[in-house]
Amino acid sequence: MRAERPRRVATKRIRVNPREPEREAIEEAAKVIRSGGLVAFPTETVYGLGADALNPDAVSRVFEAKGRPPDNPLIVHVADPEGVYLLASEVPPVAERLIREFWPGPLTLVLRRTELVPTVTSAGLDTVAVRMPDHPVPLELIRAAGTPIAAPSANRSGSPSPTTADHVMRDLEGLIEIVLDGGTTEIGVESTVLDVTVEPPEVLRPGGLPVEEVERVIGRVKVPEWARGLGHAPSRPRSPGMKYRHYAPRAKMVLVEGRPEAVRSKVEELVEEYCSRGLRVGVLATDGKRYEGAITLDLGSSSDLREVARSLFYSIRALDEMGVDVIIAEGVEERGLGLAIMNRLRKASGGEIVRA
Ligand code: AMP
Ligand code: MG
Repeated sequence: MRAERPRRVATKRIRVNPREPEREAIEEAAKVIRSGGLVAFPTETVYGLGADALNPDAVSRVFEAKGRPPDNPLIVHVADPEGVYLLASEVPPVAERLIREFWPGPLTLVLRRTELVPTVTSAGLDTVAVRMPDHPVPLELIRAAGTPIAAPSANRSGSPSPTTADHVMRDLEGLIEIVLDGGTTEIGVESTVLDVTVEPPEVLRPGGLPVEEVERVIGRVKVPEWARGLGHAPSRPRSPGMKYRHYAPRAKMVLVEGRPEAVRSKVEELVEEYCSRGLRVGVLATDGKRYEGAITLDLGSSSDLREVARSLFYSIRALDEMGVDVIIAEGVEERGLGLAIMNRLRKASGGEIVRA
Protein backbone atom coordinates (compact mmCIF):
# COMPACT_ATOMS: atom_id res chain seq x y z
CA MET A 1 0.00 0.00 0.00
CA ARG A 2 1.22 3.52 -0.73
CA ALA A 3 2.48 5.68 2.11
CA GLU A 4 1.76 9.08 0.58
CA ARG A 5 -1.69 10.57 1.11
CA PRO A 6 -3.78 11.21 -1.97
CA ARG A 7 -4.03 14.90 -2.88
CA ARG A 8 -7.33 16.66 -2.07
CA VAL A 9 -9.32 18.30 -4.86
CA ALA A 10 -12.83 19.71 -5.21
CA THR A 11 -15.07 17.08 -6.77
CA LYS A 12 -17.57 18.40 -9.30
CA ARG A 13 -20.72 16.37 -9.82
CA ILE A 14 -22.23 16.81 -13.27
CA ARG A 15 -25.63 15.38 -14.16
CA VAL A 16 -25.67 13.77 -17.63
CA ASN A 17 -28.33 12.17 -19.75
CA PRO A 18 -27.16 8.53 -19.86
CA ARG A 19 -28.65 7.94 -23.30
CA GLU A 20 -27.52 11.16 -24.95
CA PRO A 21 -24.82 12.74 -22.82
CA GLU A 22 -24.56 16.51 -23.13
CA ARG A 23 -21.66 17.69 -25.30
CA GLU A 24 -20.34 20.24 -22.76
CA ALA A 25 -20.25 17.72 -19.93
CA ILE A 26 -18.31 15.24 -22.04
CA GLU A 27 -15.90 17.93 -23.23
CA GLU A 28 -15.24 19.14 -19.71
CA ALA A 29 -14.60 15.60 -18.47
CA ALA A 30 -12.42 14.78 -21.49
CA LYS A 31 -10.26 17.79 -20.76
CA VAL A 32 -9.69 16.51 -17.23
CA ILE A 33 -8.74 13.05 -18.57
CA ARG A 34 -6.32 14.59 -21.10
CA SER A 35 -4.61 16.62 -18.40
CA GLY A 36 -4.05 13.57 -16.18
CA GLY A 37 -7.07 13.97 -13.89
CA LEU A 38 -9.70 11.51 -12.65
CA VAL A 39 -13.31 11.21 -13.81
CA ALA A 40 -15.90 8.76 -12.47
CA PHE A 41 -18.66 7.73 -14.88
CA PRO A 42 -21.50 5.24 -15.21
CA THR A 43 -21.09 2.13 -17.35
CA GLU A 44 -23.62 -0.62 -17.97
CA THR A 45 -22.02 -2.65 -15.14
CA VAL A 46 -21.02 -0.33 -12.23
CA TYR A 47 -19.49 3.18 -11.99
CA GLY A 48 -15.87 3.33 -13.16
CA LEU A 49 -13.04 5.60 -12.01
CA GLY A 50 -11.29 6.69 -15.19
CA ALA A 51 -7.84 7.99 -16.06
CA ASP A 52 -5.80 8.19 -19.26
CA ALA A 53 -4.62 4.57 -19.52
CA LEU A 54 -1.42 5.61 -21.30
CA ASN A 55 -0.38 8.21 -18.71
CA PRO A 56 1.44 6.50 -15.78
CA ASP A 57 1.01 9.47 -13.42
CA ALA A 58 -2.73 9.63 -14.04
CA VAL A 59 -3.04 5.88 -13.50
CA SER A 60 -1.03 6.12 -10.27
CA ARG A 61 -3.59 8.60 -8.99
CA VAL A 62 -6.33 6.00 -9.54
CA PHE A 63 -4.47 3.62 -7.21
CA GLU A 64 -3.99 6.40 -4.64
CA ALA A 65 -7.61 7.58 -4.72
CA LYS A 66 -8.94 4.03 -4.34
CA GLY A 67 -6.28 2.91 -1.86
CA ARG A 68 -5.80 0.01 -4.28
CA PRO A 69 -2.83 -2.35 -3.87
CA PRO A 70 -0.43 -1.65 -6.76
CA ASP A 71 -0.35 -5.33 -7.77
CA ASN A 72 -4.02 -5.30 -8.82
CA PRO A 73 -4.18 -4.29 -12.51
CA LEU A 74 -6.83 -2.07 -14.13
CA ILE A 75 -9.16 -2.74 -17.02
CA VAL A 76 -8.53 -0.52 -20.05
CA HIS A 77 -11.67 0.71 -21.80
CA VAL A 78 -11.83 1.33 -25.55
CA ALA A 79 -14.51 3.03 -27.66
CA ASP A 80 -14.44 0.65 -30.61
CA PRO A 81 -13.34 -2.95 -31.18
CA GLU A 82 -10.27 -1.87 -33.20
CA GLY A 83 -8.96 -0.12 -30.08
CA VAL A 84 -7.80 -3.51 -28.82
CA TYR A 85 -5.01 -3.75 -31.41
CA LEU A 86 -3.25 -0.73 -29.94
CA LEU A 87 -3.08 -2.38 -26.53
CA ALA A 88 -2.75 -6.09 -27.30
CA SER A 89 0.20 -7.57 -29.19
CA GLU A 90 -1.74 -10.72 -29.99
CA VAL A 91 -5.48 -11.16 -30.47
CA PRO A 92 -6.19 -14.88 -30.88
CA PRO A 93 -9.13 -16.05 -33.03
CA VAL A 94 -11.25 -16.92 -29.94
CA ALA A 95 -10.86 -13.34 -28.76
CA GLU A 96 -11.91 -12.02 -32.15
CA ARG A 97 -15.03 -14.16 -32.07
CA LEU A 98 -15.91 -12.98 -28.58
CA ILE A 99 -15.33 -9.35 -29.52
CA ARG A 100 -17.61 -9.68 -32.54
CA GLU A 101 -20.31 -11.30 -30.44
CA PHE A 102 -20.18 -9.41 -27.15
CA TRP A 103 -18.62 -5.95 -27.60
CA PRO A 104 -19.77 -3.49 -26.56
CA GLY A 105 -20.69 -5.32 -23.38
CA PRO A 106 -19.69 -6.69 -19.98
CA LEU A 107 -16.84 -8.93 -21.17
CA THR A 108 -13.20 -8.08 -20.39
CA LEU A 109 -10.47 -9.95 -22.26
CA VAL A 110 -6.99 -10.50 -20.86
CA LEU A 111 -4.46 -10.42 -23.70
CA ARG A 112 -0.69 -10.08 -24.18
CA ARG A 113 0.08 -6.37 -23.98
CA THR A 114 2.01 -4.00 -26.21
CA GLU A 115 4.80 -1.67 -25.04
CA LEU A 116 2.31 1.18 -25.15
CA VAL A 117 0.60 -0.01 -21.96
CA PRO A 118 2.38 1.48 -18.93
CA THR A 119 3.59 -0.93 -16.23
CA VAL A 120 1.35 0.67 -13.56
CA THR A 121 -1.76 0.07 -15.64
CA SER A 122 -1.17 -3.67 -15.90
CA ALA A 123 0.49 -3.91 -12.47
CA GLY A 124 3.72 -5.23 -13.94
CA LEU A 125 2.05 -8.15 -15.76
CA ASP A 126 2.84 -8.88 -19.42
CA THR A 127 -0.90 -8.88 -20.12
CA VAL A 128 -3.57 -6.20 -20.35
CA ALA A 129 -7.30 -6.42 -19.62
CA VAL A 130 -9.47 -4.69 -22.25
CA ARG A 131 -13.16 -4.08 -22.73
CA MET A 132 -15.56 -1.91 -24.70
CA PRO A 133 -18.38 -0.73 -22.43
CA ASP A 134 -21.97 -0.64 -23.64
CA HIS A 135 -22.82 2.84 -22.41
CA PRO A 136 -22.88 6.18 -24.29
CA VAL A 137 -21.15 8.11 -21.48
CA PRO A 138 -17.82 6.21 -21.39
CA LEU A 139 -17.89 5.65 -25.17
CA GLU A 140 -18.19 9.38 -25.85
CA LEU A 141 -15.74 10.25 -23.10
CA ILE A 142 -13.08 7.92 -24.55
CA ARG A 143 -13.64 9.35 -28.03
CA ALA A 144 -13.50 12.95 -26.82
CA ALA A 145 -10.39 12.32 -24.71
CA GLY A 146 -8.72 10.59 -27.67
CA THR A 147 -7.14 7.94 -25.45
CA PRO A 148 -8.14 4.60 -23.93
CA ILE A 149 -9.34 4.98 -20.33
CA ALA A 150 -8.19 2.76 -17.47
CA ALA A 151 -11.06 2.33 -15.07
CA PRO A 152 -11.54 0.09 -12.07
CA SER A 153 -14.79 0.34 -10.13
CA ALA A 154 -15.16 3.79 -8.54
CA ASN A 155 -15.12 2.70 -4.90
CA ARG A 156 -12.47 2.69 -2.17
CA SER A 157 -10.58 -0.58 -2.45
CA GLY A 158 -12.37 -3.39 -0.63
CA SER A 159 -15.81 -1.67 -0.52
CA PRO A 160 -18.88 -2.72 -2.47
CA SER A 161 -18.81 -1.39 -6.04
CA PRO A 162 -20.81 1.78 -6.74
CA THR A 163 -24.03 1.61 -8.73
CA THR A 164 -25.00 5.28 -8.22
CA ALA A 165 -23.17 8.63 -8.25
CA ASP A 166 -24.04 8.97 -4.54
CA HIS A 167 -21.99 5.85 -3.81
CA VAL A 168 -19.06 7.32 -5.73
CA MET A 169 -19.30 10.62 -3.82
CA ARG A 170 -19.39 8.82 -0.50
CA ASP A 171 -16.19 6.91 -1.29
CA LEU A 172 -14.20 9.36 -3.42
CA GLU A 173 -15.38 12.94 -2.84
CA GLY A 174 -12.31 15.16 -2.51
CA LEU A 175 -10.09 12.65 -4.30
CA ILE A 176 -11.27 12.98 -7.91
CA GLU A 177 -12.06 15.91 -10.19
CA ILE A 178 -15.42 14.94 -11.71
CA VAL A 179 -18.31 12.52 -11.23
CA LEU A 180 -20.59 12.21 -14.24
CA ASP A 181 -23.94 11.33 -12.71
CA GLY A 182 -25.93 9.26 -15.17
CA GLY A 183 -28.27 7.56 -12.69
CA THR A 184 -28.30 3.95 -11.53
CA THR A 185 -26.33 1.35 -13.47
CA GLU A 186 -28.20 -1.38 -15.32
CA ILE A 187 -26.32 -4.63 -14.67
CA GLY A 188 -25.04 -3.90 -11.16
CA VAL A 189 -22.06 -6.29 -11.07
CA GLU A 190 -18.71 -5.85 -12.84
CA SER A 191 -17.69 -7.36 -16.16
CA THR A 192 -16.76 -10.99 -16.68
CA VAL A 193 -12.94 -11.21 -16.94
CA LEU A 194 -11.70 -13.93 -19.30
CA ASP A 195 -8.03 -14.79 -19.86
CA VAL A 196 -7.64 -15.76 -23.51
CA THR A 197 -3.85 -16.12 -23.34
CA VAL A 198 -4.34 -19.69 -22.07
CA GLU A 199 -6.01 -22.73 -23.62
CA PRO A 200 -8.78 -23.33 -22.72
CA PRO A 201 -9.58 -19.72 -21.81
CA GLU A 202 -10.02 -19.16 -18.09
CA VAL A 203 -12.58 -17.09 -16.20
CA LEU A 204 -10.69 -14.88 -13.74
CA ARG A 205 -13.82 -13.18 -12.47
CA PRO A 206 -17.43 -14.11 -13.27
CA GLY A 207 -19.50 -11.02 -14.03
CA GLY A 208 -22.25 -9.42 -16.07
CA LEU A 209 -21.89 -11.76 -19.05
CA PRO A 210 -22.87 -15.31 -18.02
CA VAL A 211 -20.22 -17.98 -18.64
CA GLU A 212 -22.86 -20.02 -20.51
CA GLU A 213 -23.04 -17.22 -23.09
CA VAL A 214 -19.27 -17.29 -23.58
CA GLU A 215 -19.32 -21.08 -23.97
CA ARG A 216 -22.09 -20.88 -26.54
CA VAL A 217 -19.61 -19.03 -28.78
CA ILE A 218 -16.20 -20.59 -28.05
CA GLY A 219 -16.97 -23.86 -26.27
CA ARG A 220 -15.77 -24.87 -22.83
CA VAL A 221 -13.86 -22.44 -20.67
CA LYS A 222 -12.26 -23.09 -17.31
CA VAL A 223 -13.86 -21.73 -14.15
CA PRO A 224 -11.42 -22.33 -11.30
CA GLU A 225 -12.76 -22.78 -7.77
CA TRP A 226 -11.23 -19.49 -6.65
CA ALA A 227 -13.07 -17.61 -9.44
CA ARG A 228 -16.29 -18.84 -7.85
CA GLY A 229 -15.12 -17.11 -4.67
CA LEU A 230 -14.02 -20.32 -2.95
CA GLY A 231 -10.53 -20.92 -1.59
CA HIS A 232 -7.44 -19.03 -2.63
CA ALA A 233 -5.98 -18.05 -5.99
CA PRO A 234 -2.77 -19.80 -7.07
CA SER A 235 0.52 -18.41 -5.74
CA ARG A 236 1.13 -16.22 -8.78
CA PRO A 237 -2.40 -14.98 -9.34
CA ARG A 238 -3.25 -13.62 -12.75
CA SER A 239 -6.19 -11.75 -11.29
CA PRO A 240 -4.67 -10.36 -8.13
CA GLY A 241 -8.01 -9.03 -6.90
CA MET A 242 -8.49 -12.58 -5.67
CA LYS A 243 -6.15 -12.07 -2.75
CA TYR A 244 -8.22 -9.56 -0.82
CA ARG A 245 -11.53 -9.41 1.02
CA HIS A 246 -13.55 -7.52 -1.50
CA TYR A 247 -16.94 -5.89 -2.04
CA ALA A 248 -17.21 -5.91 1.74
CA PRO A 249 -19.61 -3.97 3.95
CA ARG A 250 -18.51 -2.46 7.27
CA ALA A 251 -20.85 -4.88 9.02
CA LYS A 252 -19.89 -8.50 9.54
CA MET A 253 -21.43 -10.59 6.78
CA VAL A 254 -22.54 -14.21 6.74
CA LEU A 255 -23.58 -16.09 3.61
CA VAL A 256 -26.00 -19.01 3.84
CA GLU A 257 -25.80 -21.52 1.00
CA GLY A 258 -27.96 -24.54 0.27
CA ARG A 259 -31.40 -25.58 -0.94
CA PRO A 260 -33.99 -22.77 -0.71
CA GLU A 261 -36.09 -24.25 2.13
CA ALA A 262 -33.02 -25.12 4.15
CA VAL A 263 -31.58 -21.64 3.58
CA ARG A 264 -34.76 -20.05 4.82
CA SER A 265 -34.81 -21.90 8.13
CA LYS A 266 -31.07 -21.44 8.65
CA VAL A 267 -31.42 -17.68 8.13
CA GLU A 268 -34.34 -17.60 10.60
CA GLU A 269 -32.21 -19.43 13.14
CA LEU A 270 -29.25 -17.07 12.66
CA VAL A 271 -31.43 -13.95 12.88
CA GLU A 272 -32.82 -15.19 16.20
CA GLU A 273 -29.37 -15.99 17.52
CA TYR A 274 -27.83 -12.60 16.61
CA CYS A 275 -30.89 -10.70 17.86
CA SER A 276 -30.74 -12.49 21.19
CA ARG A 277 -27.19 -11.17 21.52
CA GLY A 278 -28.53 -7.65 21.13
CA LEU A 279 -27.17 -7.12 17.61
CA ARG A 280 -28.91 -5.25 14.81
CA VAL A 281 -29.41 -7.67 11.94
CA GLY A 282 -29.97 -7.09 8.22
CA VAL A 283 -30.92 -9.77 5.71
CA LEU A 284 -30.41 -9.82 1.95
CA ALA A 285 -33.33 -11.98 0.84
CA THR A 286 -34.93 -13.11 -2.40
CA ASP A 287 -38.52 -13.71 -3.51
CA GLY A 288 -40.06 -11.20 -1.11
CA LYS A 289 -39.30 -13.19 2.05
CA ARG A 290 -39.46 -11.42 5.43
CA TYR A 291 -37.48 -12.29 8.53
CA GLU A 292 -38.89 -11.23 11.86
CA GLY A 293 -36.53 -9.15 13.98
CA ALA A 294 -34.29 -8.21 11.04
CA ILE A 295 -34.27 -5.42 8.47
CA THR A 296 -34.96 -7.43 5.34
CA LEU A 297 -34.09 -6.08 1.91
CA ASP A 298 -35.51 -7.97 -1.05
CA LEU A 299 -32.95 -8.40 -3.83
CA GLY A 300 -35.56 -9.65 -6.28
CA SER A 301 -36.82 -12.91 -7.67
CA SER A 302 -34.50 -15.91 -7.62
CA SER A 303 -35.90 -16.80 -11.04
CA ASP A 304 -34.72 -13.46 -12.51
CA LEU A 305 -31.15 -13.03 -11.33
CA ARG A 306 -30.74 -9.82 -13.38
CA GLU A 307 -32.85 -8.12 -10.74
CA VAL A 308 -30.74 -9.62 -7.94
CA ALA A 309 -27.47 -8.55 -9.59
CA ARG A 310 -28.79 -5.03 -10.15
CA SER A 311 -29.76 -4.51 -6.52
CA LEU A 312 -26.91 -6.44 -4.85
CA PHE A 313 -24.28 -3.74 -4.13
CA TYR A 314 -26.96 -1.09 -3.61
CA SER A 315 -28.57 -3.21 -0.89
CA ILE A 316 -25.29 -4.09 0.84
CA ARG A 317 -24.46 -0.37 1.05
CA ALA A 318 -28.01 0.45 2.22
CA LEU A 319 -27.80 -2.00 5.14
CA ASP A 320 -24.44 -0.55 6.12
CA GLU A 321 -25.95 2.91 6.15
CA MET A 322 -28.79 1.74 8.36
CA GLY A 323 -26.10 0.75 10.84
CA VAL A 324 -26.70 -2.98 11.13
CA ASP A 325 -24.05 -5.05 12.95
CA VAL A 326 -24.53 -8.22 10.92
CA ILE A 327 -25.71 -8.88 7.39
CA ILE A 328 -27.02 -12.35 6.58
CA ALA A 329 -27.30 -13.11 2.87
CA GLU A 330 -29.29 -15.85 1.18
CA GLY A 331 -27.27 -17.64 -1.50
CA VAL A 332 -28.61 -18.17 -5.02
CA GLU A 333 -28.12 -20.90 -7.58
CA GLU A 334 -24.75 -20.73 -9.38
CA ARG A 335 -25.93 -20.53 -12.95
CA GLY A 336 -26.23 -17.59 -15.32
CA LEU A 337 -25.61 -14.39 -13.36
CA GLY A 338 -25.76 -16.52 -10.20
CA LEU A 339 -22.06 -17.31 -10.61
CA ALA A 340 -21.13 -13.61 -10.39
CA ILE A 341 -23.59 -12.98 -7.55
CA MET A 342 -22.21 -15.87 -5.48
CA ASN A 343 -18.61 -14.79 -6.15
CA ARG A 344 -19.43 -11.29 -4.79
CA LEU A 345 -21.33 -12.64 -1.78
CA ARG A 346 -18.59 -15.12 -0.88
CA LYS A 347 -15.89 -12.48 -1.10
CA ALA A 348 -17.99 -9.89 0.75
CA SER A 349 -18.50 -12.39 3.58
CA GLY A 350 -14.74 -12.97 3.78
CA GLY A 351 -15.30 -16.73 3.92
CA GLU A 352 -18.04 -16.67 6.62
CA ILE A 353 -20.14 -19.24 4.81
CA VAL A 354 -22.77 -21.41 6.50
CA ARG A 355 -24.06 -24.53 4.71
CA ALA A 356 -27.76 -24.95 5.30
P1 AMP B 1 -12.13 -3.65 -10.94
O1 AMP B 1 -11.03 -2.96 -10.25
O2 AMP B 1 -13.28 -3.87 -10.00
O3 AMP B 1 -12.53 -3.02 -12.21
O4 AMP B 1 -11.60 -5.08 -11.31
C1 AMP B 1 -10.69 -5.31 -12.36
C2 AMP B 1 -10.45 -6.77 -12.41
O5 AMP B 1 -9.74 -7.14 -13.59
C3 AMP B 1 -9.64 -7.25 -11.23
O6 AMP B 1 -10.14 -8.48 -10.78
C4 AMP B 1 -8.26 -7.38 -11.85
O7 AMP B 1 -7.44 -8.23 -11.12
C5 AMP B 1 -8.59 -7.88 -13.25
N1 AMP B 1 -7.51 -7.60 -14.22
C6 AMP B 1 -7.20 -6.42 -14.75
N2 AMP B 1 -6.12 -6.53 -15.57
C7 AMP B 1 -5.74 -7.83 -15.54
C8 AMP B 1 -4.71 -8.57 -16.15
N3 AMP B 1 -3.81 -8.01 -16.96
N4 AMP B 1 -4.63 -9.87 -15.87
C9 AMP B 1 -5.53 -10.43 -15.05
N5 AMP B 1 -6.53 -9.80 -14.44
C10 AMP B 1 -6.65 -8.50 -14.67
MG1 MG C 1 -13.50 -3.23 -8.14
